[in-house]
Amino acid sequence: MSDLRELYQEVILDHNKNPRNFHKLENANHHAEGYNPLCGDKLTVYLKMEGDKISDASFEGSGCAISQASASLMTSYLKGKSTQEALEVFDKFHHMVTEDPEGSPEPSLGKLAVFAGVREFPTRVKCATLAWHTLKSALGSGQKVSTEEED
Ligand code: ZN
Repeated sequence: MSDLRELYQEVILDHNKNPRNFHKLENANHHAEGYNPLCGDKLTVYLKMEGDKISDASFEGSGCAISQASASLMTSYLKGKSTQEALEVFDKFHHMVTEDPEGSPEPSLGKLAVFAGVREFPTRVKCATLAWHTLKSALGSGQKVSTEEED
């Protein structure tokens, strides 16, 4: 298990250091901004939708390693997915980092499973899910989202 944890950490550090899809998507037709005031993470998620399909995804922003790596892995994962698939993955991801008991993460999450470990650090859960909440908003109303609802 500790080997696995090290691997997870490596993936997160790698994606933080060399974030994938870290740029503004010039031809994006959906975007939303997300903010996690507890940590100071800020993200803008850009999507290029072709009908119901996400043909391209990118992000910009600043924040901690977890939030940056999560957005990097998420945008890589989303390309070619439908809105419905993206929302299903949102639910699985959210479940994995908040509720899933010890055990192996949902196999369909692929590399996103590296975030299973944040469950043990409740203050970092919002860092990991910020990109996903922002995605959900980009797919829907496009409004600014905050991890603190009263904000
Ligand atoms: Zn954070």
